[in-house]
Amino acid sequence: GQCVNVCPTGALVERQDWMEVADVIKSGKKKVVAITSPSVRVGLGEEFGMEAGSYVEKQMVAALRSVGVNYVFDTTFAADLTIMEEASELIDRIQNKKPLPQFTSCCPAWIKFVETYYPQLLPNISSSKSPISMFAPTIKTWFAKKEGIAPEDIYIVAITPCTAKKFEITREEFHDAANYHHTQGYRDYDKVVTTKELANWLRAENLDLTSVGESDYDSLMPRGSGAGVIFGNTGGVMEAAVRSAYYFLTNEQPGDDLLKLEAIRGLAGVREASVTIADIPVRVAVVHGTDNARKFIAHMEETKTHYDFVEVMTCPGGCIGGGGQPKHIGEDMQDIRKKRIASLYDKDASMSLRNSHDNPHIKAVYEEFYGTPLSTLAEALLHTTYHERKDLGEDPAVYAKAFEADST
Ligand code: SF4
Repeated sequence: GQCVNVCPTGALVERQDWMEVADVIKSGKKKVVAITSPSVRVGLGEEFGMEAGSYVEKQMVAALRSVGVNYVFDTTFAADLTIMEEASELIDRIQNKKPLPQFTSCCPAWIKFVETYYPQLLPNISSSKSPISMFAPTIKTWFAKKEGIAPEDIYIVAITPCTAKKFEITREEFHDAANYHHTQGYRDYDKVVTTKELANWLRAENLDLTSVGESDYDSLMPRGSGAGVIFGNTGGVMEAAVRSAYYFLTNEQPGDDLLKLEAIRGLAGVREASVTIADIPVRVAVVHGTDNARKFIAHMEETKTHYDFVEVMTCPGGCIGGGGQPKHIGEDMQDIRKKRIASLYDKDASMSLRNSHDNPHIKAVYEEFYGTPLSTLAEALLHTTYHERKDLGEDPAVYAKAFEADST
């Protein structure tokens, strides 16, 4: 008798972050906006018995609408925004002799890792925020005004593959929308819910992804380009940024060689390539996993090898292998990661919109709001700074735990 209500995974015993979101929805006091990262749509299906890597974007959006979320946006849109800023920043660093290589910044566990163990590299970290951290202040400013909703009445939940994003949204400096509105009343973000937590939420509401139907994202910021989609896998941010950096510097669209940058695909711990953009040789590297990151930094510092742009993601395979993604005990995780990665690359290849800079909705947000990449407003809402964590009296051991959680 006693076992009847016990959830086999233990997931329903403890309170999870989705429960707060469900409470906010029930209260009806706020407009709830959900944004979904690329990796969630190739992981969530596995929780409902589907084949690894199944692409369940439309079912996931339908499920979020069924639990009562008011707006659903695609984080790939914000990934395009990140690329516009990060590629522009790379060009600025190369042309104006600022610190190189530029390291990517969208992985919060990597940022904490540098802040804690490699503070000498802080000037090299891209100041461009991660997609989710660009999206929230854009929603609580531009979107809020367009929809006529007071920003304090908007509650944003990011659905991510990532447990470290729960730290990221609590970074003390992320009050940019409130700063814009000259208030201190709210943070940019309200909650992060992982893929696994979303699955628990759906089960708690008796929803099954296989029968929930299909729905599309809301129309104002409906989707990203293929470049935004591949953000979920190791090497994706690099490829996406190279496509747009090429366009910004040459005014020509990237060709097939750049649309499929073969040398940096795959699952080797470190991959490198040289690309020539407007006669400038650009040396790039892609690293995944904290062990590989340590080795790469040691190699770079010892050999003084010059790199222009380095992508680091701490999870194996990138975000598709994030700590909040479905786990398959006893199964070949590497095979599952490959299937999720293939699903994102296939989606990119099947899209007519491949480049962040071609996304008409990205053009609209710059025309109507941000002006140009690296404008004063873009710097205020879409960029940030980093701090050596020792200065803040934070315990590296705590973050070491976070890395471990995300590296399994
Ligand atoms: Fe999060 Fe892992 Fe992706 Fe980093 S690589 S952003 S820790 S899911």
